[in-house]
Amino acid sequence: MSKADEERLLEAEEADFETSKGVKVINTFDGLKLKDDLLRGIYAYGFEKPSAIQQRAIVPMSQGRDVIAQSQSGTGKTAMLSIAALQLVDTTLREIQVLIMNPTRELATQTQKVILAIGDYMQIQAHACIGGKSVGEDIRKLDYGVHIVSGTPGRVFDMIRRRNLRTRNIKTLVLDEADEMLNQGFKEQIYDVYRYLPPQIQFMTDPVRILVKRDELTLEGIKQFFVAVEREEWKFDTLCDLYDTLTITQAVIFCNTKRKVDWLTDKMREANFTVSSMHGDMPQNDRDAIMGEFRGGSSRVLITTDVWARGLDVSQVSLVINYDLPNNRELYIHRIGRSGRYGRKGVAINFVKADDIRILRDIEQYYSTQIDEMPMNLADLV
Ligand code: ADP
Ligand code: MG
Repeated sequence: MSKADEERLLEAEEADFETSKGVKVINTFDGLKLKDDLLRGIYAYGFEKPSAIQQRAIVPMSQGRDVIAQSQSGTGKTAMLSIAALQLVDTTLREIQVLIMNPTRELATQTQKVILAIGDYMQIQAHACIGGKSVGEDIRKLDYGVHIVSGTPGRVFDMIRRRNLRTRNIKTLVLDEADEMLNQGFKEQIYDVYRYLPPQIQFMTDPVRILVKRDELTLEGIKQFFVAVEREEWKFDTLCDLYDTLTITQAVIFCNTKRKVDWLTDKMREANFTVSSMHGDMPQNDRDAIMGEFRGGSSRVLITTDVWARGLDVSQVSLVINYDLPNNRELYIHRIGRSGRYGRKGVAINFVKADDIRILRDIEQYYSTQIDEMPMNLADLV
């Protein structure tokens, strides 16, 4: 990590937390009283020091306390819950002990992979239980015996009902992106699953709270700009002009609908630009392949929907473009948080039509942040 990155991270970490009484801050992994083989895995994965949220939340989670943990995007929450899950598991018991629920298949898979990597010295068995995959393969893996399941609600519930996902030994339920998981649309599915879990489950009875103040929610490290376009048609030319800058590192372009993603992808390709695209109507195999290429860096520009807004972590992404402004304020912060991961540099550019300016000002005010007109020297900022 460069000196500048480190400083940005520190700034984010100094964000004021509002914390329940008794929450201690432990600023080394050694101090967290983790299992030796887990600690080894953490260091081997490249982590040296726990982030602010990890310093506060890993201990109570590992002690079996119920915890609500909040922090800015890219500050290590998913890594935190992966570490806590690994600490909670007794690997001599080949049964599911921790169930992690996620809003998207890609996030469920990402977390399963992080768990396998950090748990490398623990002989951990972790399975991603997600829609769009072969049910037979799910059943085979679950019957074989796994310690941790990271999944999406539909498939998890399906596997529970078929009794292939045995809930008897589950002691901890984790909701990543919990605000989203408890939104309309997911809430009932979560409740369906919850009813099958043992009554003494670690979840939400008297939780320890570790929250950041709202005015600290925006990301110091992400510079935000807008480009005023008079008409929708102008967005395309603006994007083409930016293409060289997009490919300096990696970029994610958000549209509000799947149709728009398809349309923009076709149009970019017709103009001879290389782009990838992904949305929820694509077969899972294609989604996996595109994720693989993008993570590997062979594809550098990804056009997508809000299926990509939450949790996904590709550290080389330094630029996010809102081709369309998102439909709500929450989505805005999650989208731009795909850049600037773990204190890295990030830039967000919003394409705004005349009647969008109001929405942009609203976002600016809500997050007490500043969104200036895009400068000429954008390439220097990514
Ligand atoms: P969040 O869930 O809060 O958005 P993630 O857990 O996805 O954040 O972490 C963001 C990035 O930071 C990931 O690439 C992750 O590997 C990295 N990271 C997390 N914790 C640490 C740490 N303690 N030290 C170094 N890198 C970390
Ligand atoms: Mg996360």
